[in-house]
Amino acid sequence: MELAHTPKSCWDIFSSQEERVALEEAATEYIAFLSRCKTERETVQWVVEQAEAAGFRQEWAEGAVYRELKGKTVLLARRGRRPLREGVRLLGAHADTPRLDFKQHPVYEDGGMALGKTHYYGGIRKYQWLARPLALHGVVVKENGETVRVCLGEDQGDPVLTIADLLPHLAQEQNERKVTEAFEAEKLNIVLGHMPQGQDPSSEGDSKEGDRVKKRVLTLLNAKYGIIEEDLYSAELQAVPAGPARCVGLDEALIGGYGQDDRICVFCGLKALLAEEDPEFTQVVIFWDKEEIGSDGATGAKSLFMEYSLQDMLRAWEPETALSELFFATKALSGDVHGALDPDFQDLHDKYNTSRLGYGPVFCKFTGHRGKVGANDAHAEYVAWWRRLLNRASIPWQMAEIGKVDKGGGGTVAKHLAIYGMDIIDFGPGVLGMHSPFELSSKADLYATIKAFQAFLGSKE
Ligand code: MN
Ligand code: MN
Repeated sequence: MELAHTPKSCWDIFSSQEERVALEEAATEYIAFLSRCKTERETVQWVVEQAEAAGFRQEWAEGAVYRELKGKTVLLARRGRRPLREGVRLLGAHADTPRLDFKQHPVYEDGGMALGKTHYYGGIRKYQWLARPLALHGVVVKENGETVRVCLGEDQGDPVLTIADLLPHLAQEQNERKVTEAFEAEKLNIVLGHMPQGQDPSSEGDSKEGDRVKKRVLTLLNAKYGIIEEDLYSAELQAVPAGPARCVGLDEALIGGYGQDDRICVFCGLKALLAEEDPEFTQVVIFWDKEEIGSDGATGAKSLFMEYSLQDMLRAWEPETALSELFFATKALSGDVHGALDPDFQDLHDKYNTSRLGYGPVFCKFTGHRGKVGANDAHAEYVAWWRRLLNRASIPWQMAEIGKVDKGGGGTVAKHLAIYGMDIIDFGPGVLGMHSPFELSSKADLYATIKAFQAFLGSKE
């Protein structure tokens, strides 16, 4: 019997030719998914396409059901062999990601340029969004109800947008300020153009000086999307890093890309759900919106969407069982990424309680900050159940805290689901550069996480 516990590298565990092929296949599929889905709407649309193709329908009469809310949140359920009063296996993750939202009055002209004003969404480090190609994703809903989908800056032939950064020659004063004060939200204005109306052979040239560049941008928006300025009030336009996700490192063992928090858990969660067609316990998978801004709103985890949906499920599949009975017997997993040990900032981690990339998905027994404030703290009995499940399936995992006590912290959807009395724990792969435009994950962790989520959704005890 081994007395001391030593985590093992996934690369050593998944060393067979067969495993390596499967690992690369999952990574290739994941990179394509990350490159295509950069907003919660795009992610939910992708989930629905995959679910439909796998036979999921919107009717509770079926054994495989999905229900989406406002195109931003989606719940999927697959009926198991055991009755619902014995609980379900519930996996939640979030599909929203930090970004720059266009304000409702975005377009203006200043200094001979047309620019777009933004209001950032979620916890960003503002300087990371400067001087890099940005794409614009989202929807514009016209007064007549027609929805225009926007995705500009992803095709090679598309122009991209950007925010110009201050030149170092004039940054002397800015350099002396604190990082939190040096980069102002009201200066995160996106370059939209600089050619005045009237210079383009196709335009009429009737504008006065001072708004001709803005006029031309509005003309182009109208030509491309059939919209007018007022349509931008009923729009959700999100500036995100342009371009595809990539393999990183000479060994190509890492994945770099935007929005891995938390689309990596969405990807792994859906893959795990679709892999198990005849589960012991009913499986419920939910991909939430609004996690990055506190889980509020109709599509966030604090809403009643899940509760209403599970009530409908009981009514259709097992009307004699009370919702509380289902909740108390439920085992849940809050699939969210973990901040892995950063080699450059090791002093911020407690080296005895940190996680490393490539050593498997990470349990976070509790989140919160400064004395576990705001945390769901998973019960020891539940952690033991998980250890048994994963160890018996030889799936690598780690147990960690994000950083040293009192150095910061974070939150997830776990506490919003824990209020129902279900067992729940945070569990997901580590990333480096979380919330940055180019987050890093390990291909080995991706593969291990799919296996772990699959073991959870398919568990028999
Ligand atoms: Mn997250
Ligand atoms: Mn986050």
